[in-house]
Amino acid sequence: MRLILMGPPGAGKGTQAKVVADHFGIPAISTGDIFRANVSQGTELGLQAKKFMDAGEYVPDEVTNLMVRNRIDEDDARPGFLLDGYPRTVAQVAELDGMIKFTGHELDAVVVLTVNQDELVQRLLQRAEVENRTDDTEDVIRRRQELYAEETEPLIDVYRERGKLVEVDGIGEIDEVTERIFAALKSVRES
Ligand code: ADP
Repeated sequence: MRLILMGPPGAGKGTQAKVVADHFGIPAISTGDIFRANVSQGTELGLQAKKFMDAGEYVPDEVTNLMVRNRIDEDDARPGFLLDGYPRTVAQVAELDGMIKFTGHELDAVVVLTVNQDELVQRLLQRAEVENRTDDTEDVIRRRQELYAEETEPLIDVYRERGKLVEVDGIGEIDEVTERIFAALKSVRES
């Protein structure tokens, strides 16, 4: 099972990624989490990524692609994986295509969580209080939203044209959203 979970910042990708990945017995690979772990451990990768993350900018493709490639090469990802926060650019899509092709498998589905703008801002500001993320200030949130619209939203059409896309309403209780994701995945895999 090879899945991508997409959606704007604050859509609830991280929460759903873990539940869905556990269900299929595959690792949830979150590029944001891997970057944050590297920042807190003070690794070279963390040092490279931090300045981009704090500004709400994307980490350069070469850095991100290599990191994902290494992660996907690990043993636990052999039966599959769920990607959360990757790909975010057209160049990353091409790179991921190559990585998956190399394994001899195919991408099963791309799930997009849809949430309206007002709800997103609310959730992100609330998260800022709870998690203390340095990139959850108002200006940086705005920049991350802009970048999502410019660089990442166009990927939805790319995957729709490939017939891999399922859109899921991300508003509601966590369990409800999870159920919607499972139902949507069932329909795309049977089609
Ligand atoms: P969110 O989806 O809430 O914006 P993430 O935790 O997924 O947050 O990502 C946090 C930051 O990590 C991003 O703003 C960006 O700087 C960096 N990042 C994560 N994934 C990628 C990616 N695929 N390409 C480039 N940068 C990334």
